[in-house]
Amino acid sequence: MYHSALLKNTSFINGKWISSSNSFDVINPFNNQIVAKVADANANNAEQAVIAAKNALKTWSAKSAHDRAMILKKWFTLIMENQDELATILTLEQGKPLAEAKGEIAYGASFIEWFAEEGKRVYGDTIQAPSSDKRIVVIKQPVGVVAAITPWNFPNAMIARKAAAALAAGCTFVVKPATLTPLSALALAELSVQAGIPAGVFNVVVGTDSQQMGEVLTTHKSIAKFTFTGSTAIGKILLNQCASTVKKVSMELGGNAPFIVFDDADIDAAVKSAVTSKFRNAGQTCVCTNRILVQSSILEEFTTKFVSAVQSLKLGSGLEENISVGPMITKSATTDVKKLVIDSITAGAELLTGGDSELGSNFYQATVLANVTNDMPIAANEVFGPVAPIIAFNTEQEAIEVANDTEYGLAAYFYARDIGRVWRVAEALEFGMVGINDSAISNAAAPFGGIKQSGNGREGSKYGLDDYMEIKYLSMGGI
Ligand code: NAP
Repeated sequence: MYHSALLKNTSFINGKWISSSNSFDVINPFNNQIVAKVADANANNAEQAVIAAKNALKTWSAKSAHDRAMILKKWFTLIMENQDELATILTLEQGKPLAEAKGEIAYGASFIEWFAEEGKRVYGDTIQAPSSDKRIVVIKQPVGVVAAITPWNFPNAMIARKAAAALAAGCTFVVKPATLTPLSALALAELSVQAGIPAGVFNVVVGTDSQQMGEVLTTHKSIAKFTFTGSTAIGKILLNQCASTVKKVSMELGGNAPFIVFDDADIDAAVKSAVTSKFRNAGQTCVCTNRILVQSSILEEFTTKFVSAVQSLKLGSGLEENISVGPMITKSATTDVKKLVIDSITAGAELLTGGDSELGSNFYQATVLANVTNDMPIAANEVFGPVAPIIAFNTEQEAIEVANDTEYGLAAYFYARDIGRVWRVAEALEFGMVGINDSAISNAAAPFGGIKQSGNGREGSKYGLDDYMEIKYLSMGGI
């Protein structure tokens, strides 16, 4: 078993590590061995965390933005100093290659650094009043206690991205991470103590009864804002639950990203970018390329080069050197992807490479399917696995229609050089984020988020703080 001072195994509430009579196992998806036994928190613990966050709110929100920034920067520094250890814990519980895990730690930390600074730049307004004896002033204030539920695919960054903005705005925070990957969240809590984040400001409740804990986090009257990253199906349930107390809500949900390659594209650049965007985290990323659309005149060249690049990807343990694709999160995730591939082949898709399990039941080979149409299961669903379906198209209009033909609207990518086409396509794509000759689109300075059934709200950028602040209008009379 891996030993580390950052490997914690109980929930963290009001600055204390809280044990429980029950526990659950955290499993390494590479070899199905137990990484840690973790105390199983319940709905009462979630409520304790909410009360702790409520009690801590007054003092934390009263601090100056500068003082909060100093503490958040310390947190950022500690995370980066412990990057290797945090990445190892992340790979052990989640499976992704260590280089990607290190990248995730740095990416998550970058939001803490960014929002530490951005918190100092919260501005209000003065507005011309309709009569001369009045003044109109607009101020922004922290929304209050924030509750979050996060997924297993980015167990560090999906928490850091939310907590950074919430804490910088002056809110206090309770997160319930995914049951499959609680250790990265608890390691962040340990470093929050070392950074001097006061008790009750950052709380982590880990447990298997997500439904009951989710009920508390979406309905408790002391919670002002609920933020979720996860599947659209669960997001809809939680949105409904939040309605009972009319919470401010933001949702980062599923995606079905098209990656369009037009005939004027730099094909080699498009191939390289499509491989990275598709196979990062074994295809288990919300902004992963889900469908590759290629113009018919360059289909053969693109496909040949793409298949060759995919065949060079090496599967294995995330802790080994030079591994490009790690295991999928569970055996059942692999089974789901296998079924999408088989059903699509039955519907007429052609298997060009991959298509089978390898190295045990949690691995699925990097797979390419050709002759795919947008109604086949592999294109109509969020695949969440290492499978690249290729769809051919003839005209720009056809590509746009196929790309937009999904209930999701998170990320889209396209490769083209004609400047008129670049503008036309960028404006026509119904997605919150569009990568143009680029698929590495996410960073702390940019607004991350989706439209349609991919959610609402934005994480990162100058817009990210708004999700954690209320606008208050002061009408001053008798002047
Ligand atoms: P999920 O099944 O929706 O689970 C996400 C979180 O919700 C987990 O913590 C889960 O807890 C919890 N949960 C599940 N059912 C619940 C319920 N009834 N009440 C309260 N909480 C509940 O999603 P996932 O499989 O972990 O993550 C993959 C999905 O996340 C994909 O659709 C992906 O696209 C999306 N995602 C979106 C973004 C984005 O920024 N838009 C980023 C990353 C991932 P348990 O772990 O205990 O089940």
